[in-house]
Amino acid sequence: MSKTKANSEKSSKSSRTKKNSQKAEKQAILEQTLQYEKKIYDLEQLLDIAKSFCSTLDFDNLLESIVYISMAQMHVLGAEIFVRDMISSDQLILATSKDKFNNRQPVTIPAISPVTEKLLEIQRPISLEELKKAVSPCDTLNTIETLSPTSIVPLIQKTHLNGILILQERIAIEDDTTYTEYEENQLMSIASLASVAINNAILLEMSSTDMMTHLKLKYFFFNSLTEKIDTAITMDHNVSVLMFDIDFFKKFNDTYGHECGDFVLIGVADLIKSNLRDSDIASRYGGEEFTVLLDKTEKEEALLVAERIRSKIQDFDFVYNEQHLKVTISGGVSMFDTNTNPVISPAVLVKQADAALYMSKSGGRNQVTFFDPAIHSGQEKAE
Ligand code: GH3
Ligand code: MG
Ligand code: MG
Repeated sequence: MSKTKANSEKSSKSSRTKKNSQKAEKQAILEQTLQYEKKIYDLEQLLDIAKSFCSTLDFDNLLESIVYISMAQMHVLGAEIFVRDMISSDQLILATSKDKFNNRQPVTIPAISPVTEKLLEIQRPISLEELKKAVSPCDTLNTIETLSPTSIVPLIQKTHLNGILILQERIAIEDDTTYTEYEENQLMSIASLASVAINNAILLEMSSTDMMTHLKLKYFFFNSLTEKIDTAITMDHNVSVLMFDIDFFKKFNDTYGHECGDFVLIGVADLIKSNLRDSDIASRYGGEEFTVLLDKTEKEEALLVAERIRSKIQDFDFVYNEQHLKVTISGGVSMFDTNTNPVISPAVLVKQADAALYMSKSGGRNQVTFFDPAIHSGQEKAE
């Protein structure tokens, strides 16, 4: 081979190597850019998720939002959440379960158990198989297993477990259903945002709830009523208010004792709540007085609901220390209507329900009266 030919071959080989290495470099840069773009996209998603969690303080809406966001982000077909029970803090309650809406006994697990301690210790998502290896068989594991988890995610707030997110069946990507380390980190970021939001919602729920009857407090009722009236004015629909008061409750306390009175008060609150829709708001307005907000509800339906509650309470057999006891309630109903009763103040609507309640009391108790603005303002003028 001539010297010139050898030199030319050498130079073309080196130019090919150079080109190849440039191509590999370009490929590496492209892959790196794609990775960065994915990270930026995921961070933007986390920001949106944070915004969404922060804007929802209503507990049920928040849980729904956590479930749907986790399902979409992790490509799973279902998810459930256990959260710290507000009433008995020693248990976690399956808050997303359909049992809650079917009035069935909710599924619970103890707040402190080898399972929850393990989740708190590892601070990352874990599979059921791993969890089974880490703790001895127990009821909590069995309960979790019934939910068919593909990933069990601790929701940690400071040093305690606020809840557990259970991710269910996963959509396979290229036949793979395992979670990568990157996905698990992303999942933990979502979980920590969810945990802060759950904590805030629990605090709000607790500070707006009467801890004896578990109904809402008066101020929460007024805030909700203000909002509903505002919407009713613009959307031109009705809002009804029910007001109840237990009949002769002072005498009841004097006869059976205050503790027995408390027992009945809680029972009455439960009966009111169980005869309402999820969207209705029942509050303990004061001592033995209750109010109910029925949004988008007209006179006939509101009266029907009030009458149903009155009759359920009349028929209920309250059993306290083997004594069978009876109580009755009286009720008043008022309704916002842009034509017939265009009150803009929630206090006026409540006052009207109270006036109707007063009529029920003076009419003999254990009955429900509707506040008719036409008749009542006529009465006021005559007085
Ligand atoms: P009326 O039919 O006119 O409503 O008669 P009443 O005796 O129920 O009315 P009144 O307002 O005079 O009495 C209300 C009673 O409710 C007095 C109070 O002892 C009782 N009460 C208020 N809050 C509680 C509570 O938390 N527990 C118990 N046990 N009793 C309560
Ligand atoms: Mg009273
Ligand atoms: Mg009373």
